[in-house]
Amino acid sequence: MYSFSNINTLQADLKGGKITCAALVEQAVTAIAQKKQLNAFLEVFEASAKELAKKTDEKIKMGTAGRLAGVIIGLKDNICYKGHKVSASSKILEGFESLYSATVVEKLLAEDAIMIGRLNCDEFAMGSSNENSAFGNVLNPLNEKFVPGGSSGGSAVAVAAGLCHVTLGSDTGGSIRQPASFTGTVGYKPTYGRVSRYGLIAYASSFDQIGPITKTVDDAAVILEVIAGQDKNDNTSSSKKVEDYSKALLEDKKYKIAYLKECVEAEGLDPEVKAAVLKQMEWLKSQGHTVEAVSFPYLEYLVPTYYVLTTAEASSNLSRFDGIHYGYRSKNATDLESTYKKSRSEGFGKEVQRRIMLGTFVLSAGYYDAYYSKGQKVRRIIHEKTNEILKNFDFILTPSTPGTAFEFGKNSADPIKMYLEDIFTVQANIAGVPAISVPCGLHSNGLPMGLQLMAGYFEDAKLLNLASKIKV
Ligand code: GLN
Repeated sequence: MYSFSNINTLQADLKGGKITCAALVEQAVTAIAQKKQLNAFLEVFEASAKELAKKTDEKIKMGTAGRLAGVIIGLKDNICYKGHKVSASSKILEGFESLYSATVVEKLLAEDAIMIGRLNCDEFAMGSSNENSAFGNVLNPLNEKFVPGGSSGGSAVAVAAGLCHVTLGSDTGGSIRQPASFTGTVGYKPTYGRVSRYGLIAYASSFDQIGPITKTVDDAAVILEVIAGQDKNDNTSSSKKVEDYSKALLEDKKYKIAYLKECVEAEGLDPEVKAAVLKQMEWLKSQGHTVEAVSFPYLEYLVPTYYVLTTAEASSNLSRFDGIHYGYRSKNATDLESTYKKSRSEGFGKEVQRRIMLGTFVLSAGYYDAYYSKGQKVRRIIHEKTNEILKNFDFILTPSTPGTAFEFGKNSADPIKMYLEDIFTVQANIAGVPAISVPCGLHSNGLPMGLQLMAGYFEDAKLLNLASKIKV
């Protein structure tokens, strides 16, 4: 059994003949089958993965393999891979097969990574616990009574349980960082526009970013280097040059770090999470960084702004799933209108329906100014205030989440309580800045805790640099 530690070591081991891609795929397939109860994978792409492994083993022999040769990658089930099924963990996309690959997938394949399968998630990436999937809960491998976080729950669990080397998730309000924090993995949301969204099933397009979940920050840097860059198929992707993120990890700089007083003093913050974050701050100071409190009196506006704007965008994005163009069509429909109504009512789950209705409401003629317009204005203020802090400081530090993973069903009856899970993570998406969650020790309940760092626009290299120094 090959024990994966990081991408660079794997490359050396493949070149040195210690392991082959074919064996790595076999191992992954076996591990996924052995841990089937976790329900992380919705499908294993066994045939295509084996084919890729064979080709890559030949390339390794010839010395022509890419820099991700043999890296076994799982895709969140909202990222398209040509000729393979994709469902956003929804019944409404039943039987749908991708007609093209997402740009990120093309880029990974071009470096000889191996796509091993698609990963369970909250339906259309809406949720914080993976309890909203049409295909059942994903279990937290550290304690199976607990949620893995969401919406990229399967992506986090696949890495935490060693089912594959790296996974991709999508982060609209915390969906990479929160499950990473709940499973003791590294979750990275790049700057908005750093990574192409082409081929990602859209939830809220002005918030969505694809990013990696990995065992180490070094691996996140390598993956970002490969997937980042301008794409003619995504007009919001930036033309800024892609930096050498791995090289940036080697720098040793002293930084100015701000922590948000209101986050650390937040009611509802688990005392042990608070203590763990304070301990990290002391450690950072001992390493020569400065850590200072700043005030950010907008905490209570973050979650409402996020939910007004993302549901508005979702109601528009999800209108294409009409029972005609894709996947599921109700058998009980009798005419065009009932095809729309019945297919959408039967195909979408409860949470997705709630958000489509909320979004339709905030965009409706009578309420547009009161909600959507106001939400946009508040977004602008949060954006400006966040950037003001990031002009004076290199980073903003917060806990990733108010607590550790919670038990199944605990927040299900109260959507507001569930939405508050995102209180620390949504700021980065509202402002568009990059953010990372790194492990920050174990709680006395045995579950991992996460520390979040945010940096300024396109300061992804700097962010990865400091994150790579944090050790627990
Ligand atoms: N938990 C948040 C939500 O439910 C974030 C989701 C995400 O980032 N995709 O919307």
